[in-house]
Amino acid sequence: MIEIINWEVIKTRIKNTEWAGKFIEVTKERLDGFIESYHDESSRITGWFHHYNCEKCQGRLTFNIENSEEHVCSVCGQVNKSETFTKVWYNMYRGRANTSVYESGIMYRLTGEEKYIKHMKRVLSFYSDNYDDFVSEPIAKRFEGKLQNQHLDDASAVIAMIQGIDMARERFSDEELKYYYEKLFKKEAEMFDFFANRIYNIPVWIKCAQAMVGVFFNEEEHIQKGFYSIYGILDQLKKGVTDEGMWYEGSMHYHYYTVHPIAMLMFICRRVEFNIPEMQYIYDKIEKMFEYPLKMMFSNKRLPNPHDGHPYIDIFNYRTHYEYASIIYDNPLFKKVCSMFWDGEVKPSFARLLFNTWENEAYDVEFGTVNNPSSGTAMLRDKRTELFFRYSTLTHLHRHPDEMSFELAFDGDVVSYDIGNGGYASSLFVEWQRKTLCHNTVVIDESDHMRMSLPFGKAEEFNIEDSYIKVKTKALYEATDFTRAFKVAENKVEDEFLVHSWDTHLVDWFFYCEGELTCKNETEEIETLAPEYLKNGSPDPHGRKAPRQAGYQHLLDVKKFETDDDWTANFELPDKIIRVTMKGEPGTTVHLVNSYTANKEKTRHGLMVRRRADKTLFATTYECIYK
Ligand SMILES: [Zn+2]
Ligand SMILES: [Zn+2]
Repeated sequence: MIEIINWEVIKTRIKNTEWAGKFIEVTKERLDGFIESYHDESSRITGWFHHYNCEKCQGRLTFNIENSEEHVCSVCGQVNKSETFTKVWYNMYRGRANTSVYESGIMYRLTGEEKYIKHMKRVLSFYSDNYDDFVSEPIAKRFEGKLQNQHLDDASAVIAMIQGIDMARERFSDEELKYYYEKLFKKEAEMFDFFANRIYNIPVWIKCAQAMVGVFFNEEEHIQKGFYSIYGILDQLKKGVTDEGMWYEGSMHYHYYTVHPIAMLMFICRRVEFNIPEMQYIYDKIEKMFEYPLKMMFSNKRLPNPHDGHPYIDIFNYRTHYEYASIIYDNPLFKKVCSMFWDGEVKPSFARLLFNTWENEAYDVEFGTVNNPSSGTAMLRDKRTELFFRYSTLTHLHRHPDEMSFELAFDGDVVSYDIGNGGYASSLFVEWQRKTLCHNTVVIDESDHMRMSLPFGKAEEFNIEDSYIKVKTKALYEATDFTRAFKVAENKVEDEFLVHSWDTHLVDWFFYCEGELTCKNETEEIETLAPEYLKNGSPDPHGRKAPRQAGYQHLLDVKKFETDDDWTANFELPDKIIRVTMKGEPGTTVHLVNSYTANKEKTRHGLMVRRRADKTLFATTYECIYK
């Protein structure tokens, strides 16, 4: 067992540093309050986290630990009440209890107070004594958990509790640990083993939790199954991580989500000096996974948001990951990243207190223009003009069918971005956020990119010096290829999107941007772009476009004009204008639209350019004009 954390140094830090002292004071007060009022019953049924959305506006509800009956919307303020919400509340309460075990371990080390050990044992015994009685209500049996709603929740519970015990290990007798292992952790590990059934973020979590049980309690069976089985950790890393270190689901959120439990496991492995021959391989892979998002980050520290993910994500969402990385690796890059978390108002945390001693480093890293052929992503940069481009999809899991789409930033302001999603239970998720048409790409015949296959794009040209890339992706629809080229210069981006079909189709090109949309051409208002079958509710003859999923009904305030000539539209922001200019082509109809984002409260404007063609080129420039 090696000491990674020097507790005397931490204590001095708390004493001498204002934020650290304040953080411990506030955390202690909150934790002490929780410990005092801690009450749980094994008969409480735990509900699904993603049901916690407002009935009125779909906004996220706020978890108030003191009220299991009333659930207040964080967007519109509506008070929601129902059994469903209370069950979700039970689930979150239990999550809080699991974290309290972790926090108690730390607080015991800092204060030596007995109540923390007592609380840890109370929670662990409650779970161990009642294990067989716990009931959850998952949205499908295959997600079922035991202590919490999903086995995924249980994995994070197990990880937090083991981390907590680890902090105060000498206060647990061998008999106690054996009891918790037999009655709780072993049963959890067996459940995890059963449910790990593909290359995916959730199996990574549960396999890491299983491996952590094995490593921490020194149980060979769960070490073997955790690391070596099919869908075990080694299998996941081998099949799920690209050459450039991207988690193959493509979403930044799920990328970090996958890294998270592995970092926690590696920490425990180091603590107990656990080793297997493949350990170096694991360390190397994870190091690359930490590096990948940094290469793709916008200069304002926001991250591109392809596929499923929270509506807005930046590097600060993942500070804990890098704080762990900075002590697991002797890699200057991660220390530099950690120095960013000292700037501005960043929430203090245990990881910051325990691991982040890098306040004197500076983040001065520039990656320039990057292409990642095996991940199907690129970042083109010229100073603070940045364009994120994605052109391949490696799995259907958490996929948005938005091949060849891009995000755009001028002067570090990401003005055109992927909206991610606003929660899986929201109706906008299926009808809008997970549709092709809410992305900066092309839709054929008003239906999403084909889901039968996984499109893989190839860069035909790539030139770092000119920040230029040209990529071709085949068969996004049957007998249809897309080729898109971007050239990024300071405050100006050129975009050539060639659609090539064997037959004639309806081709819709989309671009969304922040700001008020104006245009010199005379426009005509139209009621809706929703296709006929949507208006009269009759089902789609091909079955591919179920009315609920069509998406075009969510293009709002539609105005259009027809032109064969070059045309221009402006997106006006407080400090700048984003000017879109497109080369004329006969038979072009330009639509000015408004649309939803991750919720219905915030809307944004966009352009839809429609042509009927077999082969057509959308040649566009985006310019930034400062006011
Ligand atoms: Zn609401
Ligand atoms: Zn998306």
